[in-house]
Amino acid sequence: MSDIEQLQALYNEADSIVFFGGAGVSTESGIPDFRSANGLYRDFSGVSPEEILSHDFFEAHPEEFFRFYRTKILAPDARPNAAHLALARMERNGKLLGIVTQNIDGLHQMAGSRRVAELHGSVHRNYCQRCGRKYDLGFVADGGGVPRCSCGGIVRPDVVLYGESLPEDAIETALAWISRADFILVAGTSLTVYPAAGLLRYRKRGSRLALINRDATPLDAEAELVIHGKVGEALAQLAL
Ligand code: NAD
Repeated sequence: MSDIEQLQALYNEADSIVFFGGAGVSTESGIPDFRSANGLYRDFSGVSPEEILSHDFFEAHPEEFFRFYRTKILAPDARPNAAHLALARMERNGKLLGIVTQNIDGLHQMAGSRRVAELHGSVHRNYCQRCGRKYDLGFVADGGGVPRCSCGGIVRPDVVLYGESLPEDAIETALAWISRADFILVAGTSLTVYPAAGLLRYRKRGSRLALINRDATPLDAEAELVIHGKVGEALAQLAL
């Protein structure tokens, strides 16, 4: 059996599936990931992206934070790729409990997925740190400098910066899905960012695990099937 035939068999035999993904799910939409050969970590000298995207850096240097955020993180023109579209189809067909994503780009929702637990928040939600007023992506993307609310407070993205805790509702939803699923498909993530990657420890005993990732991950040895290829290309070949 080919890799794709094995993946198809896992899909066919499952009743409840969870997809757990990361930045590699969106690289085929033109959004760079962090750690692979073309990732942002190879692209930026001086201060590391991890440091710029930290709570402390944001508080101390909001100008620099928003310059980096607008030029390197935001991708308002990106559109869903074959992976996002296949997952939306899986949800419509009723087998997918949900998507647990570390991505902040909103592309799963743009593809039509409704059951998405966003562990690291979303660039589409922004709020004033002082009065809580909500703003859309355009407000932050289109302006220059530090975006300010009408009350004078800084408008920040509702994304989890390094050093901040993950949203409880997303963790609860993710854990409920992961602990119930009989098949977990992990794709496009280096599985090195915690606590997100640690949620996979809560998978049900006897559940099946497959991985699609260009590079090796710490979970490869535990998976029944590992495909070292592109997630969009692989999912596009499935009959869903
Ligand atoms: P990562 O950059 O650490 O790892 C990405 C992994 O995806 C790599 O192992 C790479 O080999 C693999 N990959 C890249 N393109 C692929 C493809 N087309 N098919 C299959 N595999 C592919 O990403 P991570 O594990 O998600 O952790 C990075 C953190 O950065 C996350 O917290 C995430 O929130 C954030 N991030 C998000 C976005 C986004 O929203 N699109 C983009 C960059 C980073």
